[in-house]
Amino acid sequence: MKRVRVVVVGAGVIGFSTAVCVAEALPTCAVTLVADRFSPDTTSDVAAGILFATQFPDIPVERQTRWFKDSFDHLLAIAQSDQAPDAGVLLTSGCQIFREVPTQKVPFWSELVFGFRFLTERELRRFPEHCFGQAFTTLKCESSSYLPWLEKRFRRAGGEVQQRTVSSLQELAGSYDLIVNCSGLGAGALAGDGQVHPVRGQVLKVRAPWITHFIRDGDGLTYIFPGVHSVTLGGTRQAGDRRREADPADSEGILRRCGRLEPSVAAAEVLSEWVGLRPGRRNPRVERGAPVAEDGGRRVPVVHNYGHGGGGVTLSWGTAVDTLGLVRQCLCEMPLQARL
Ligand SMILES: Cc1cc2nc3c(=O)[nH]c(=O)nc-3n(C[C@H](O)[C@H](O)[C@H](O)COP(=O)(O)OP(=O)(O)OC[C@H]3O[C@@H](n4cnc5c(N)ncnc54)[C@H](O)[C@@H]3O)c2cc1C
Repeated sequence: MKRVRVVVVGAGVIGFSTAVCVAEALPTCAVTLVADRFSPDTTSDVAAGILFATQFPDIPVERQTRWFKDSFDHLLAIAQSDQAPDAGVLLTSGCQIFREVPTQKVPFWSELVFGFRFLTERELRRFPEHCFGQAFTTLKCESSSYLPWLEKRFRRAGGEVQQRTVSSLQELAGSYDLIVNCSGLGAGALAGDGQVHPVRGQVLKVRAPWITHFIRDGDGLTYIFPGVHSVTLGGTRQAGDRRREADPADSEGILRRCGRLEPSVAAAEVLSEWVGLRPGRRNPRVERGAPVAEDGGRRVPVVHNYGHGGGGVTLSWGTAVDTLGLVRQCLCEMPLQARL
């Protein structure tokens, strides 16, 4: 039987999660993943990888909850298996603190993480500039381990990987029967989507093994996330900024702000500086797009999964599962001869 040729564009956490979902669920498809950047050079590699979400304005909260839950359950199973060290997935506990009490004191994901509760007054004394806090246990998914682990899993499922730049989705229509676009920031050009914009983020990796609990300021700008090999200190959110090199002034600001939350940061050795461009968009785009036409006139379906902003690791498996559903729909609609 002829296999349906599926191409996934993008080798970040969204592309590889989607490629694994499709390749494992649909053995009748021959899945190829193409991208110009691979780990450790993607935005996904820069993410602290904490499972944590801010709510998108125009997507039903039920759908966002499902994305979070599917990702959490998938990664929790890995964290509790013998694969945890290879995949770089671990449980982590800590708190999020606020200078003003937020309107939503109980976020939509509060029942999906473990042990969600408010900080006590005694606990808050440690943060004199903050008046409210939430404590919980969530997952941390370190992309520099997780992406190579996903790539192995994808290849085991029969997937193929190619390094190349795609200049338009049409260019793929001659060689594939279905296109899945997971190109992150690159989707601005590939899908002609003016909503996609870079949100630059800089972080530092430091050696500070005594820090074992995370602290995140509710404004999303300052955070301390301990991981397997180092502690991530962040960060910045610079909309429209495409600079990929580290800025010393940003690093200085990060150390100063983190030091106010956790003074012992001053004793930490800085190991490296990382910069990533988040694929900013008002909402992630997980839907079917207009098909592209091959030279011979054949119309090739397109499914989009991009624009996850600052939450791509958190939503990666959930949006991949949704994308798999959209791929299945396209396959059902394909003329029978294309599938024989
Ligand atoms: C500092 C920082 C901290 C973060 N912390 C967290 C966190 O704690 N939790 C969380 O959930 N998220 C976090 N994020 C957000 C997260 O990193 C992103 O949402 C996620 O990485 C987006 O994944 P992606 O696969 O869409 O994009 P990317 O990782 O950028 O991958 C895009 C892929 O598409 C390919 N591509 C693009 N255009 C083309 C083209 N024309 N041809 C071929 N290939 C192409 C690229 O080469 C790349 O392989 C953070 C981000 C930053 C910068």
